[in-house]
Amino acid sequence: MSNVAVCVRIRPLSEKEVQYGSIVPCIRRSDQESFTFKDDKEEESVFTFDRVFYEDSIQADVFEFVAKPIVKDAMNAINGTILAYGQTGAGKTHTMEGPNMQNLDDSSAKGILPRVAQCIFEFIQAADETSEFLIKLSMVEIYMEKIRDLLDATKNNLQVKENRAKGIFIAGVTERYVQTEKELLQILQVGLANRAVGATQMNAESSRSHCVFLFTIQQTNSEDRSMKTGKVYLVDLAGSEKVERTGAEGKLLSEAKMINKSLSALGNVINALTSETGSHVPYRDSKLTRILQESLGGNSRTTLLCCCSPSSLHVSETLSTLRFGSRAKQIRNKPKVNAERGRHELEQLLQKSEYESGLDAET
Ligand code: ADP
Ligand code: MG
Repeated sequence: MSNVAVCVRIRPLSEKEVQYGSIVPCIRRSDQESFTFKDDKEEESVFTFDRVFYEDSIQADVFEFVAKPIVKDAMNAINGTILAYGQTGAGKTHTMEGPNMQNLDDSSAKGILPRVAQCIFEFIQAADETSEFLIKLSMVEIYMEKIRDLLDATKNNLQVKENRAKGIFIAGVTERYVQTEKELLQILQVGLANRAVGATQMNAESSRSHCVFLFTIQQTNSEDRSMKTGKVYLVDLAGSEKVERTGAEGKLLSEAKMINKSLSALGNVINALTSETGSHVPYRDSKLTRILQESLGGNSRTTLLCCCSPSSLHVSETLSTLRFGSRAKQIRNKPKVNAERGRHELEQLLQKSEYESGLDAET
């Protein structure tokens, strides 16, 4: 069993926040894992997470700590998930994508996604010659409880299904096979451009939808033809801010409630997983939690990345993000190696793995 890892990233104050004179930060740094948070009543509390990335953190550090171990495990058929959580403007997309996915020239600014793309192919290069790899990418957006395929706009209401062979999957979702990092980046760019187009047509901003990226890494041993598959989910969640604060009306309000439904379902799943009475886990209450079922309390190594503004303007949203993170830290997952054959090799691999998990060989 392994706990869900929870990291916090605090972005620098924005120009607007500086203009408002909100330079009084509500977070006081202690060390790499802890800080003191001061709320609007000047009350202080200490929060501790697996890692805190402060204002001066760089994209490469976040990738190295949060994403690289997950990609490495996925190359060994252990599923991984990274969820970016936080209010709109807190830095989720900056962390996941970087400032501009359509222009990746500034390599230091690149976020987790393009670095994952690069890392997958670096691992393939370094793998031994008996391994053959197949890399697939899918991208969907969950908006108003509908799953839209970002790689095929005609698929705008996909369903989540489950079977023994595949586990939980999005039925009919486009899976693009890629052979190079460049190709992978191009497909990511196309998908993200589709997201932007869809967003204006639906009068929705990306802040009100969840964006899910799925990398599948399938590995075949050319000698014994044994096969193993690792999946990596990267999720840029909708803004976690409360509806009332956005002043939404009419369609916007129903939209906001619907999005809250998905995020509150995520909260409910986390509460059920961490409750001592072992209550029913309501994964089926939303598309988001259903897709993430294996990532929450299941077969995945999962990291929640809570993004926060350091400004005292946002104390209540920041506090709610930090509480969400603290709660999620208690979830225990059971990452396993996904195998189809080659049990002996996998047993050895598992012994080497840091997890004390069981074997899920489908022989
Ligand atoms: P979200 O996706 O959570 O709504 P964004 O990632 O779009 O928020 O970030 C909001 C703004 O703050 C953007 O202009 C972004 O460039 C900036 N920003 C966020 N995080 C950082 C950071 N770590 N360093 C510099 N700028 C950041
Ligand atoms: Mg965003």
